[in-house]
Amino acid sequence: HLVHGSSDQLDLKDVFIAVKTTKKYHKSRLELLTKTWVSRAKEQTFIFTDGEDQEFQQKTECNIINTNCSAAHTRQALCCKMSVEYDKFIDSQKKWFCHVDDDNYVILPRLLQLLSSYHHSQDVYLGRPSLDHPVEATETEGPRPVKFWFATGGAGFCISRGLALKMSPWASFGNFISTAEKIRLPDDCTIGYIIEALLEVTLTHTHLFHSHLENLQKLPTESVLHQVTLSYGGYENRRNVVSIFGGFTMAEDPTRFKTVHCLLYPDTQWCSKILLR
Ligand code: UDP
Ligand code: MN
Repeated sequence: HLVHGSSDQLDLKDVFIAVKTTKKYHKSRLELLTKTWVSRAKEQTFIFTDGEDQEFQQKTECNIINTNCSAAHTRQALCCKMSVEYDKFIDSQKKWFCHVDDDNYVILPRLLQLLSSYHHSQDVYLGRPSLDHPVEATETEGPRPVKFWFATGGAGFCISRGLALKMSPWASFGNFISTAEKIRLPDDCTIGYIIEALLEVTLTHTHLFHSHLENLQKLPTESVLHQVTLSYGGYENRRNVVSIFGGFTMAEDPTRFKTVHCLLYPDTQWCSKILLR
């Protein structure tokens, strides 16, 4: 990868970070994010949700966008949110679009470092494939099924502005929802379909993004802070968390996000207690 000269160094303010959430997770998931990594990227993080929440709105200084999409966990509702994320990014004039779920921790300096090795005017689609083979869409615009890779939404992915602009005919102003309906696949697959199958731009596979579909305990401890995104297991697998120690106990920090945050930003006020240990 080429590294930029200092003249056009990428700044965090050039990155648009979309966090997908739903009203029922404001307390259980979003609070942890706003307390940790989101607090270090307030201006460029946008939280896309589906219901008014006065209490949450008042407590946080973050950008909250009520998509008015349904709160159901259906393809239509999730694609509706992705469609609003896309439109807001295009409006923002920022150089990079990154999407994450509300159970992801974004290691901001690593994200910046990764994006700095590409140019936003090039066609760049970065993420982690969720499968070890491409997916196939049988119902497509063309006569034949098409195979393509897609970045798993639960690990986060990034798209350069140059590429995002080319996606416009299939992604802007609700077209994303029609595209997803045509191929009958989820939101993250639809992104892959537009980019790989329609625009013929390939996904740059990266293992620096992580979802709870993988065994997070297997990430070597010394490599955890070098990743771009992290996640944690849901109710069904509470033990699927990154192995990182020296901060909070498992009881105090079941997701390990607080520990990660304090190791990255030891100057954080609520981190001081762990430094006394
Ligand atoms: N989500 C949503 N609406 C729902 C359920 C989930 O927008 O009805 C969001 C949730 O906030 C998260 C993402 O979709 O950002 C994935 O949800 P979850 O982690 O619960 O499920 P997974 O697919 O990862 O098992
Ligand atoms: Mn999840």
